[in-house]
Amino acid sequence: MEKIPEIYGSCVFNDSIMRDKLPKDIYKALKKTIKNGTHLELDVANAVAIAMKEWAVENGATHFTHWFQPLTGFTAEKHDSFITPTDDGQIIMEFSGKELVKGEPDASSFPSGGIRATFEARGYTAWDPSSPAFIKDGTLYIPTAFCSYTGEALDKKTPLLRSMDALNAEAVKMLHFLGNTDVVNVTTTVGPEQEYFLIDKKDYAKRRDLIFTGRTLIGAPSPKGQEMDDHYFGTLRPRVAAYMHDLDRELWKLGIPAKTKHNEVAPAQHELAPVFDTTNVAVDHNQLTMEIMKTVAEKHDLVCLLHEKPFAGINGSGKHNNWSMTTDTGVNLLDPGKTPADNVQFLIFLSAVIKAVDEYADMMRLSVASAGNDHRLGANEAPPAIISIFLGDELTAVIDSIKNDTFFKKDASQIMETGAAVIPHFTKDNTDRNRTSPFAFTGNKFEFRSLGSSASVATPNIILNTAVAHSLSEFYKTLKDVSEDKKDEAVHSLIKETLIKHERVIFNGNGYTDEWIAEAEKRGLYNLKSTPDVLPKLLDEKNVKLFTELGIYTETELKSRYEILIENYCKTIHFEACTLKEMIRQDFNPAVIKLMESLSNSILSKKNISDAISTAAEEKLLKNISSKFTELDDALDKLEANLCKAESMEDGIELAAFYHDPVFTDMQNIRAVADYIEGYIPDEFLPYPTYSKLLFYV
Ligand code: ADP
Ligand code: MG
Repeated sequence: MEKIPEIYGSCVFNDSIMRDKLPKDIYKALKKTIKNGTHLELDVANAVAIAMKEWAVENGATHFTHWFQPLTGFTAEKHDSFITPTDDGQIIMEFSGKELVKGEPDASSFPSGGIRATFEARGYTAWDPSSPAFIKDGTLYIPTAFCSYTGEALDKKTPLLRSMDALNAEAVKMLHFLGNTDVVNVTTTVGPEQEYFLIDKKDYAKRRDLIFTGRTLIGAPSPKGQEMDDHYFGTLRPRVAAYMHDLDRELWKLGIPAKTKHNEVAPAQHELAPVFDTTNVAVDHNQLTMEIMKTVAEKHDLVCLLHEKPFAGINGSGKHNNWSMTTDTGVNLLDPGKTPADNVQFLIFLSAVIKAVDEYADMMRLSVASAGNDHRLGANEAPPAIISIFLGDELTAVIDSIKNDTFFKKDASQIMETGAAVIPHFTKDNTDRNRTSPFAFTGNKFEFRSLGSSASVATPNIILNTAVAHSLSEFYKTLKDVSEDKKDEAVHSLIKETLIKHERVIFNGNGYTDEWIAEAEKRGLYNLKSTPDVLPKLLDEKNVKLFTELGIYTETELKSRYEILIENYCKTIHFEACTLKEMIRQDFNPAVIKLMESLSNSILSKKNISDAISTAAEEKLLKNISSKFTELDDALDKLEANLCKAESMEDGIELAAFYHDPVFTDMQNIRAVADYIEGYIPDEFLPYPTYSKLLFYV
């Protein structure tokens, strides 16, 4: 019998191991650092390093690595062994506090968006003690932040930690103001639900588009798609079940609390959700989860696709970022309270979120922008590009009553003795029905649903934490000098004014309709459809002010991120266009020629036998295919010309816009013709598997 509690966290240097292995005073000092983010003394670091190394070596590790998240969107690692040679030709296994807290990878090849050109070529990594170290494949992994020598962040963890600090500071200030003085700390929590596709490894290996770009660039729809919804929550096929079984165990070993797994709407699509955790740990775990998903798939002769849109006409993959704020006293600040005082606290934090999302909707949209995710947002399979908030009918009624100074009353039992209305405790059932909203209140948390499946969840959370911290800081400025006897009234009118000012961002209806698009425009909400549309917003004055004032990004860091986002977008489309060209010319065209050849042969051989046999069908088909083939070739020439033009253009937002239109548009035109022709090509003529085979054979 396998014992899951023993497996769970067996590869993690977790709290109980630390308590076991560390001298008491060292353990205490480390805990203090983790909890309050205070500075770690070198003697503490040395003692922790010794214990960590001992534990790692006992568990089979020979190397250690600083594990970080550069702006490539992937994680990075460089392994060093613990080995130190001694004079007598032997070795000892060594690891110092200095090696634990700071690393100096030669980082000159990581994207820096120009930071390193102007400052210093090298970067360093710094231990994040709040995310536990772990062992994977014989190496001790130490989660770290990655900065330039002049202190600029070159990664996603640094601004994430800064944003958590900012929110902590502002939330604690507000709680103390509200009389909740026991609270020392507020952390944000995140539970990311991860979608993915599984396809057969042999099929994958035959498609250059999947290999080079992670998605299919051409491919006619299979006769059956997802129309029947029969895959959603359907029985797991044995091969998939075996994969999920192994995946769970690998994740559990790493202390990742994988909890829910099920089939998704699209054929071959699945989802995994962990139990939520502190944001930076959840972000690290999500990165690891994506990596482990891929490696476990290999072992099962499968390939795990994390691209946002691997197959046209079939739902793509996203990530739902469940987000909330919790105090060190164990209170979820987005949980409606049981008393009027709790209610006020809840309403303040709720209003802060509503204000944040309305004021920084452009940044929320930016936080999920990528070439891959552009396929989903607004395509009636994921929320629209318009950012709005879903609150549900009950909470909306509460808010309306506050706005109109009427009394919200669901039933008599919900009126407290004081005469004040208590907000009903929301169950998920009555708030979670609307799946078309990008940002939905689900009882005691918000669910940001616009994230793409392959992206790091760090960026959306940086923006969410920062914007909410900003709301709270403005609230505090309004309230801080109010005299004690006017406090209740001031808080009430602040909530009311905030709700009135930002109610335009609340929308409980169907986000997939054209009416909503028109309505949103009337309300003055952003509808930033593509990545090139949204990127320039990053450098808008209001956004630069937000991030710099709260100390999340310096202006230099923002500019560098802007450059990198543009570059990533351009490169993605460029590689896709080049792959498409190659795939059409080398794989697809020969199949079309074979088809035309077989049609011609049929015509000729019939004619050889007798002129009386009709060749009309073949001739009609051949004519049709030939003319489409010419169309395809013309479309390809057009793409080629535009790619040449792109090469001669200056890097920048104009180039990104050019890659979006015409280049991406050219690609879609090519695809339309190719997919039409593919409908006539026998499978055996194609050197790669079709949608039917890819999607229905695992
Ligand atoms: P659904 O698919 O209906 O949205 P799931 O149960 O699949 O729901 O996922 C819900 C996610 O929300 C889980 O990862 C869960 O741990 C997470 N979650 C629950 N409470 C919180 C919270 N307070 N903060 C952040 N995430 C939370
Ligand atoms: Mg969900």
